[in-house]
Amino acid sequence: MAPLTVLGVASPAKSCTDGKCPFHGTVTVKKELFTGKVVKKDINRSATIEWFHSQYIPKYERFAWRRSRMRVHNPSCLDAAPGQNVLVAKTRPLSKTKHHVILKVIS
Ligand SMILES: [Zn+2]
Repeated sequence: MAPLTVLGVASPAKSCTDGKCPFHGTVTVKKELFTGKVVKKDINRSATIEWFHSQYIPKYERFAWRRSRMRVHNPSCLDAAPGQNVLVAKTRPLSKTKHHVILKVIS
């Protein structure tokens, strides 16, 4: 039975047979959320997201602009494309480099 919402996010209109989908598969998500922009999409339902943040460097008493990147699972029912902002949640390790799954396309 597919859950209607995951962490308050309504399940997408499209259905899928992806076992690693938080809505239609068996993967459960943890309450550790990230937002980022999709910069790369692979054919094997993977994507790379990135976001920028400033970090204070005490030695120079200035802020540096840092980039963070994360490999995420892109369920076939959501199918986020490069350029879209997405909400991502932590899961169990899905593969060697993926520990997070996309929950929602924000824009
Ligand atoms: Zn799905």
